Amino acid sequence: MSRFWSETVRGLTPYVPGEQPKVPDLIKLNTNENPYGPSPGVLATLRAEAAETLRLYPDPNADRLKAAVAEYYRVRPNQVFAANGSDEALAHAFLGLLKHPKPLLFPDVTYSFYPVYCGLYGIEYETVPLTGDFEIDLDDYLRPNGGVIFANPNAPTGRLLSLDAIEAFLAQNTDSVVVVDEAYIDFGGETAIPLVERFPNLLVIQTLSKSRSLAGLRVGFAVGHTELIEALERVKNSFNSYPLGRLSIAGAVAAMEDREHFDETRKAVIRTREVMTASLQHLGFTVLPSAANFVFARHPEWNAATLAARLREKKILVRHFKLPRIDQFLRISVGSNDAALRLHQALSEILDQ
Ligand code: PMP
Repeated sequence: MSRFWSETVRGLTPYVPGEQPKVPDLIKLNTNENPYGPSPGVLATLRAEAAETLRLYPDPNADRLKAAVAEYYRVRPNQVFAANGSDEALAHAFLGLLKHPKPLLFPDVTYSFYPVYCGLYGIEYETVPLTGDFEIDLDDYLRPNGGVIFANPNAPTGRLLSLDAIEAFLAQNTDSVVVVDEAYIDFGGETAIPLVERFPNLLVIQTLSKSRSLAGLRVGFAVGHTELIEALERVKNSFNSYPLGRLSIAGAVAAMEDREHFDETRKAVIRTREVMTASLQHLGFTVLPSAANFVFARHPEWNAATLAARLREKKILVRHFKLPRIDQFLRISVGSNDAALRLHQALSEILDQ
Protein backbone atom coordinates (compact mmCIF):
# COMPACT_ATOMS: atom_id res chain seq x y z
CA MET A 1 0.00 0.00 0.00
CA SER A 2 1.38 3.39 -0.92
CA ARG A 3 0.11 6.84 -0.02
CA PHE A 4 0.25 7.61 -3.73
CA TRP A 5 -2.37 5.02 -4.63
CA SER A 6 -5.86 6.13 -5.58
CA GLU A 7 -8.75 4.86 -3.53
CA THR A 8 -9.73 2.65 -6.46
CA VAL A 9 -6.34 0.97 -6.55
CA ARG A 10 -6.34 0.46 -2.79
CA GLY A 11 -9.58 -1.49 -3.07
CA LEU A 12 -8.53 -3.81 -5.90
CA THR A 13 -7.99 -7.56 -5.62
CA PRO A 14 -6.17 -8.30 -8.90
CA TYR A 15 -6.34 -11.55 -10.83
CA VAL A 16 -3.28 -13.78 -10.45
CA PRO A 17 -2.34 -15.46 -13.74
CA GLY A 18 -0.71 -18.87 -13.81
CA GLU A 19 3.06 -18.89 -13.46
CA GLN A 20 5.16 -18.24 -16.58
CA PRO A 21 8.45 -19.67 -15.33
CA LYS A 22 11.78 -18.31 -16.48
CA VAL A 23 13.53 -21.64 -15.91
CA PRO A 24 13.86 -23.93 -18.92
CA ASP A 25 12.84 -27.62 -19.16
CA LEU A 26 9.61 -27.31 -17.22
CA ILE A 27 6.58 -29.12 -18.54
CA LYS A 28 3.98 -26.39 -18.46
CA LEU A 29 0.53 -27.78 -17.83
CA ASN A 30 -0.68 -24.80 -15.81
CA THR A 31 -2.09 -22.16 -18.17
CA ASN A 32 -3.92 -24.14 -20.86
CA GLU A 33 -1.56 -23.24 -23.64
CA ASN A 34 -1.72 -25.29 -26.82
CA PRO A 35 1.15 -27.80 -27.15
CA TYR A 36 1.16 -27.41 -30.92
CA GLY A 37 2.43 -24.28 -32.59
CA PRO A 38 0.24 -21.86 -34.50
CA SER A 39 -0.46 -22.36 -38.19
CA PRO A 40 2.71 -22.09 -40.34
CA GLY A 41 0.76 -19.51 -42.36
CA VAL A 42 0.58 -17.33 -39.24
CA LEU A 43 4.35 -17.42 -38.80
CA ALA A 44 4.96 -16.54 -42.45
CA THR A 45 2.46 -13.67 -42.19
CA LEU A 46 4.10 -12.34 -39.04
CA ARG A 47 7.52 -12.36 -40.68
CA ALA A 48 6.15 -10.44 -43.66
CA GLU A 49 4.37 -7.99 -41.38
CA ALA A 50 7.56 -7.24 -39.43
CA ALA A 51 8.48 -4.42 -41.79
CA GLU A 52 8.96 -0.71 -42.10
CA THR A 53 5.16 -0.25 -41.88
CA LEU A 54 5.43 -0.88 -38.12
CA ARG A 55 6.13 2.85 -37.82
CA LEU A 56 2.46 3.39 -38.71
CA TYR A 57 -0.42 2.86 -36.31
CA PRO A 58 -2.52 -0.22 -36.98
CA ASP A 59 -6.12 -0.08 -38.18
CA PRO A 60 -7.96 1.03 -35.01
CA ASN A 61 -10.99 -1.02 -36.08
CA ALA A 62 -9.12 -4.20 -37.05
CA ASP A 63 -11.50 -4.45 -40.01
CA ARG A 64 -9.64 -7.32 -41.66
CA LEU A 65 -9.90 -9.40 -38.52
CA LYS A 66 -13.59 -8.62 -38.09
CA ALA A 67 -14.16 -9.66 -41.71
CA ALA A 68 -12.25 -12.92 -41.18
CA VAL A 69 -14.22 -13.80 -38.05
CA ALA A 70 -17.49 -12.79 -39.74
CA GLU A 71 -16.72 -15.01 -42.69
CA TYR A 72 -15.77 -17.93 -40.46
CA TYR A 73 -18.97 -17.72 -38.42
CA ARG A 74 -21.29 -16.45 -41.18
CA VAL A 75 -22.22 -13.23 -39.41
CA ARG A 76 -21.79 -9.60 -40.51
CA PRO A 77 -18.55 -7.74 -39.66
CA ASN A 78 -20.48 -5.21 -37.55
CA GLN A 79 -21.54 -8.11 -35.30
CA VAL A 80 -17.88 -8.66 -34.37
CA PHE A 81 -15.72 -6.89 -31.80
CA ALA A 82 -11.94 -7.42 -31.81
CA ALA A 83 -9.90 -7.26 -28.62
CA ASN A 84 -6.45 -7.65 -27.10
CA GLY A 85 -7.16 -11.15 -25.81
CA SER A 86 -10.62 -12.25 -24.78
CA ASP A 87 -9.84 -10.85 -21.34
CA GLU A 88 -10.15 -7.39 -22.87
CA ALA A 89 -13.45 -8.25 -24.59
CA LEU A 90 -14.68 -9.53 -21.22
CA ALA A 91 -13.51 -6.38 -19.42
CA HIS A 92 -15.38 -4.13 -21.85
CA ALA A 93 -18.49 -6.32 -21.60
CA PHE A 94 -18.44 -6.04 -17.80
CA LEU A 95 -18.28 -2.25 -17.94
CA GLY A 96 -20.45 -1.72 -21.01
CA LEU A 97 -23.14 -4.38 -20.69
CA LEU A 98 -23.12 -6.07 -17.28
CA LYS A 99 -23.04 -3.14 -14.84
CA HIS A 100 -26.62 -2.51 -13.73
CA PRO A 101 -28.56 -1.93 -10.52
CA LYS A 102 -29.62 -5.58 -10.35
CA PRO A 103 -26.84 -8.07 -9.56
CA LEU A 104 -24.82 -9.82 -12.22
CA LEU A 105 -25.02 -13.61 -11.87
CA PHE A 106 -22.21 -16.10 -12.46
CA PRO A 107 -21.27 -19.54 -11.12
CA ASP A 108 -19.55 -19.88 -7.73
CA VAL A 109 -16.85 -21.89 -9.48
CA THR A 110 -15.79 -20.28 -12.77
CA TYR A 111 -13.12 -18.10 -14.36
CA SER A 112 -11.72 -16.20 -11.41
CA PHE A 113 -11.32 -13.01 -13.43
CA TYR A 114 -15.09 -12.33 -13.28
CA PRO A 115 -15.17 -11.17 -9.65
CA VAL A 116 -12.00 -9.15 -10.34
CA TYR A 117 -13.74 -7.14 -13.07
CA CYS A 118 -16.69 -6.64 -10.73
CA GLY A 119 -14.26 -5.21 -8.17
CA LEU A 120 -12.60 -2.96 -10.73
CA TYR A 121 -15.86 -1.56 -12.10
CA GLY A 122 -17.97 -1.62 -8.94
CA ILE A 123 -20.45 -4.18 -10.26
CA GLU A 124 -22.88 -5.86 -7.88
CA TYR A 125 -22.85 -9.62 -8.31
CA GLU A 126 -24.18 -12.84 -6.86
CA THR A 127 -22.65 -16.24 -7.40
CA VAL A 128 -24.86 -19.23 -8.20
CA PRO A 129 -23.59 -22.59 -6.92
CA LEU A 130 -22.74 -25.29 -9.43
CA THR A 131 -24.59 -28.54 -8.82
CA GLY A 132 -22.99 -31.30 -6.74
CA ASP A 133 -21.53 -32.66 -9.97
CA PHE A 134 -19.96 -29.27 -10.75
CA GLU A 135 -22.43 -28.54 -13.53
CA ILE A 136 -24.08 -25.23 -14.38
CA ASP A 137 -27.88 -25.52 -14.10
CA LEU A 138 -29.26 -22.51 -15.96
CA ASP A 139 -32.64 -22.88 -14.25
CA ASP A 140 -30.89 -21.52 -11.17
CA TYR A 141 -30.30 -18.26 -13.08
CA LEU A 142 -33.99 -17.65 -13.77
CA ARG A 143 -34.33 -14.79 -11.33
CA PRO A 144 -34.07 -11.02 -11.49
CA ASN A 145 -30.58 -10.11 -12.67
CA GLY A 146 -28.58 -7.33 -14.29
CA GLY A 147 -26.79 -9.81 -16.52
CA VAL A 148 -25.51 -13.36 -16.63
CA ILE A 149 -22.04 -14.60 -17.53
CA PHE A 150 -20.65 -18.12 -17.61
CA ALA A 151 -17.88 -19.95 -19.40
CA ASN A 152 -18.81 -22.83 -21.69
CA PRO A 153 -17.09 -25.21 -21.25
CA ASN A 154 -16.74 -23.87 -17.74
CA ALA A 155 -13.32 -23.24 -16.25
CA PRO A 156 -11.65 -24.72 -14.33
CA THR A 157 -14.10 -27.66 -14.34
CA GLY A 158 -14.15 -28.31 -18.11
CA ARG A 159 -17.84 -29.25 -17.95
CA LEU A 160 -19.97 -28.44 -20.97
CA LEU A 161 -23.51 -27.08 -21.35
CA SER A 162 -25.48 -28.11 -24.41
CA LEU A 163 -26.59 -25.54 -26.93
CA ASP A 164 -30.19 -26.60 -26.24
CA ALA A 165 -29.83 -25.70 -22.57
CA ILE A 166 -28.41 -22.27 -23.48
CA GLU A 167 -31.16 -21.65 -26.02
CA ALA A 168 -33.88 -22.62 -23.54
CA PHE A 169 -32.39 -20.21 -21.01
CA LEU A 170 -32.17 -17.37 -23.55
CA ALA A 171 -35.81 -17.87 -24.45
CA GLN A 172 -36.72 -17.14 -20.82
CA ASN A 173 -34.06 -14.57 -19.85
CA THR A 174 -34.79 -11.81 -22.35
CA ASP A 175 -34.27 -8.62 -20.34
CA SER A 176 -30.57 -8.75 -19.55
CA VAL A 177 -27.37 -9.52 -21.41
CA VAL A 178 -26.11 -13.09 -21.35
CA VAL A 179 -22.39 -13.45 -22.02
CA VAL A 180 -21.06 -16.89 -22.95
CA ASP A 181 -17.28 -17.09 -22.58
CA GLU A 182 -16.25 -19.72 -25.12
CA ALA A 183 -12.49 -19.67 -24.54
CA TYR A 184 -12.41 -23.49 -24.75
CA ILE A 185 -15.39 -24.25 -27.01
CA ASP A 186 -13.34 -25.66 -29.90
CA PHE A 187 -12.18 -28.62 -27.82
CA GLY A 188 -15.54 -30.34 -27.67
CA GLY A 189 -18.52 -28.00 -27.57
CA GLU A 190 -20.90 -26.33 -29.95
CA THR A 191 -20.63 -22.55 -30.22
CA ALA A 192 -23.65 -20.38 -29.36
CA ILE A 193 -22.75 -17.89 -32.12
CA PRO A 194 -25.60 -19.05 -34.45
CA LEU A 195 -28.03 -18.00 -31.68
CA VAL A 196 -27.04 -14.31 -31.85
CA GLU A 197 -29.39 -13.82 -34.84
CA ARG A 198 -32.37 -14.72 -32.67
CA PHE A 199 -31.28 -13.39 -29.29
CA PRO A 200 -30.25 -9.71 -29.33
CA ASN A 201 -29.09 -10.01 -25.70
CA LEU A 202 -26.53 -12.76 -26.36
CA LEU A 203 -22.82 -11.96 -26.53
CA VAL A 204 -20.37 -14.77 -27.30
CA ILE A 205 -16.69 -14.24 -26.53
CA GLN A 206 -13.87 -16.33 -27.98
CA THR A 207 -10.08 -16.28 -27.99
CA LEU A 208 -7.28 -17.25 -30.34
CA SER A 209 -5.12 -18.12 -27.33
CA LYS A 210 -6.19 -21.75 -26.98
CA SER A 211 -7.48 -23.59 -30.04
CA ARG A 212 -5.46 -21.39 -32.42
CA SER A 213 -2.37 -21.55 -30.27
CA LEU A 214 -1.78 -17.79 -30.19
CA ALA A 215 -1.71 -16.96 -26.47
CA GLY A 216 1.41 -14.87 -27.09
CA LEU A 217 -0.25 -12.71 -29.74
CA ARG A 218 -3.17 -11.59 -27.50
CA VAL A 219 -6.25 -11.71 -29.71
CA GLY A 220 -9.86 -12.35 -28.78
CA PHE A 221 -13.25 -11.33 -30.15
CA ALA A 222 -16.92 -11.01 -29.31
CA VAL A 223 -19.91 -11.74 -31.53
CA GLY A 224 -23.39 -10.39 -30.91
CA HIS A 225 -26.10 -8.00 -31.99
CA THR A 226 -24.76 -4.74 -33.43
CA GLU A 227 -26.14 -2.83 -30.43
CA LEU A 228 -24.08 -4.95 -28.03
CA ILE A 229 -21.02 -4.59 -30.24
CA GLU A 230 -21.51 -0.82 -30.31
CA ALA A 231 -21.40 -0.75 -26.49
CA LEU A 232 -18.05 -2.55 -26.56
CA GLU A 233 -16.73 -0.16 -29.23
CA ARG A 234 -17.76 2.80 -27.09
CA VAL A 235 -15.81 1.46 -24.12
CA LYS A 236 -12.83 0.56 -26.32
CA ASN A 237 -12.72 4.02 -27.90
CA SER A 238 -12.82 5.58 -24.45
CA PHE A 239 -9.89 3.46 -23.28
CA ASN A 240 -7.42 2.50 -26.03
CA SER A 241 -8.05 3.12 -29.73
CA TYR A 242 -5.38 0.65 -30.87
CA PRO A 243 -5.72 -2.48 -28.74
CA LEU A 244 -4.46 -4.74 -31.54
CA GLY A 245 -1.10 -4.13 -33.16
CA ARG A 246 -0.31 -4.77 -36.81
CA LEU A 247 1.24 -8.14 -36.01
CA SER A 248 -1.78 -9.23 -33.98
CA ILE A 249 -4.27 -8.30 -36.67
CA ALA A 250 -2.32 -9.92 -39.51
CA GLY A 251 -1.49 -13.07 -37.52
CA ALA A 252 -5.05 -13.50 -36.31
CA VAL A 253 -6.45 -13.20 -39.85
CA ALA A 254 -4.04 -15.88 -41.05
CA ALA A 255 -5.03 -18.12 -38.13
CA MET A 256 -8.75 -17.80 -38.90
CA GLU A 257 -8.06 -18.68 -42.53
CA ASP A 258 -6.10 -21.89 -41.87
CA ARG A 259 -8.93 -24.26 -41.03
CA GLU A 260 -6.89 -27.37 -41.68
CA HIS A 261 -4.20 -26.69 -39.08
CA PHE A 262 -6.89 -25.63 -36.62
CA ASP A 263 -8.83 -28.83 -37.11
CA GLU A 264 -5.83 -31.17 -36.97
CA THR A 265 -4.38 -29.65 -33.82
CA ARG A 266 -7.61 -29.40 -31.88
CA LYS A 267 -8.37 -33.04 -32.67
CA ALA A 268 -4.89 -34.00 -31.47
CA VAL A 269 -5.54 -32.14 -28.20
CA ILE A 270 -8.86 -33.94 -27.78
CA ARG A 271 -7.22 -37.34 -28.34
CA THR A 272 -4.51 -36.61 -25.76
CA ARG A 273 -7.17 -35.39 -23.32
CA GLU A 274 -8.87 -38.76 -23.50
CA VAL A 275 -5.54 -40.56 -22.97
CA MET A 276 -4.71 -38.29 -20.01
CA THR A 277 -8.13 -38.84 -18.49
CA ALA A 278 -7.77 -42.62 -18.70
CA SER A 279 -4.25 -42.49 -17.28
CA LEU A 280 -5.33 -40.33 -14.33
CA GLN A 281 -8.28 -42.61 -13.64
CA HIS A 282 -5.93 -45.56 -13.72
CA LEU A 283 -3.89 -43.84 -10.99
CA GLY A 284 -7.00 -43.48 -8.84
CA PHE A 285 -7.99 -39.93 -9.70
CA THR A 286 -11.56 -38.80 -10.15
CA VAL A 287 -11.66 -36.78 -13.37
CA LEU A 288 -14.57 -34.54 -14.33
CA PRO A 289 -15.74 -35.01 -17.93
CA SER A 290 -13.94 -32.28 -19.86
CA ALA A 291 -14.78 -30.56 -23.14
CA ALA A 292 -11.77 -28.24 -22.79
CA ASN A 293 -7.99 -28.47 -23.25
CA PHE A 294 -7.51 -29.27 -19.57
CA VAL A 295 -8.80 -31.80 -17.09
CA PHE A 296 -9.95 -31.20 -13.54
CA ALA A 297 -9.05 -34.06 -11.26
CA ARG A 298 -8.76 -35.02 -7.60
CA HIS A 299 -7.21 -37.94 -5.82
CA PRO A 300 -9.21 -39.35 -2.89
CA GLU A 301 -6.11 -39.94 -0.77
CA TRP A 302 -3.84 -37.07 -1.68
CA ASN A 303 -3.95 -33.40 -0.83
CA ALA A 304 -4.05 -31.42 -4.06
CA ALA A 305 -1.59 -28.72 -2.94
CA THR A 306 0.91 -31.44 -1.91
CA LEU A 307 0.52 -33.16 -5.27
CA ALA A 308 1.06 -29.88 -7.14
CA ALA A 309 4.22 -29.22 -5.09
CA ARG A 310 5.57 -32.75 -5.68
CA LEU A 311 4.90 -32.42 -9.40
CA ARG A 312 6.75 -29.13 -9.42
CA GLU A 313 9.78 -30.85 -7.86
CA LYS A 314 9.61 -33.14 -10.87
CA LYS A 315 9.48 -30.11 -13.16
CA ILE A 316 5.81 -30.40 -14.04
CA LEU A 317 3.62 -27.36 -13.48
CA VAL A 318 -0.11 -27.78 -12.93
CA ARG A 319 -2.64 -25.31 -11.52
CA HIS A 320 -4.06 -25.54 -8.03
CA PHE A 321 -6.70 -23.06 -6.84
CA LYS A 322 -6.94 -22.42 -3.12
CA LEU A 323 -10.66 -21.73 -3.41
CA PRO A 324 -13.77 -23.10 -1.70
CA ARG A 325 -15.15 -26.38 -3.16
CA ILE A 326 -12.20 -26.92 -5.50
CA ASP A 327 -9.12 -26.83 -3.28
CA GLN A 328 -8.71 -30.61 -3.57
CA PHE A 329 -8.61 -30.50 -7.38
CA LEU A 330 -5.78 -30.00 -9.82
CA ARG A 331 -6.34 -28.38 -13.19
CA ILE A 332 -4.00 -29.99 -15.66
CA SER A 333 -3.65 -28.62 -19.18
CA VAL A 334 -3.58 -31.09 -22.04
CA GLY A 335 -0.05 -31.03 -23.37
CA SER A 336 1.77 -33.04 -26.00
CA ASN A 337 1.62 -36.84 -25.94
CA ASP A 338 5.10 -36.82 -24.45
CA ALA A 339 3.99 -34.45 -21.67
CA ALA A 340 1.06 -36.75 -20.92
CA LEU A 341 3.44 -39.69 -20.61
CA ARG A 342 5.81 -37.78 -18.33
CA LEU A 343 2.89 -36.67 -16.20
CA HIS A 344 1.80 -40.28 -15.83
CA GLN A 345 5.31 -41.40 -14.85
CA ALA A 346 5.76 -38.56 -12.36
CA LEU A 347 2.40 -39.18 -10.71
CA SER A 348 3.00 -42.94 -10.50
CA GLU A 349 6.28 -42.28 -8.70
CA ILE A 350 4.70 -39.77 -6.31
CA LEU A 351 1.72 -41.99 -5.48
CA ASP A 352 3.98 -45.01 -4.93
CA GLN A 353 5.96 -43.25 -2.23
N1 PMP B 1 -11.91 -16.98 -20.45
C1 PMP B 1 -11.51 -18.08 -19.80
C2 PMP B 1 -12.54 -18.98 -19.22
C3 PMP B 1 -10.14 -18.35 -19.64
O1 PMP B 1 -9.74 -19.43 -18.97
C4 PMP B 1 -9.20 -17.47 -20.20
C5 PMP B 1 -7.72 -17.76 -20.10
N2 PMP B 1 -7.15 -17.40 -18.89
C6 PMP B 1 -9.68 -16.34 -20.86
C7 PMP B 1 -11.03 -16.13 -20.98
C8 PMP B 1 -8.76 -15.27 -21.40
O2 PMP B 1 -7.96 -15.69 -22.43
P1 PMP B 1 -7.23 -14.64 -23.39
O3 PMP B 1 -7.24 -13.31 -22.70
O4 PMP B 1 -5.89 -15.20 -23.57
O5 PMP B 1 -8.04 -14.60 -24.63
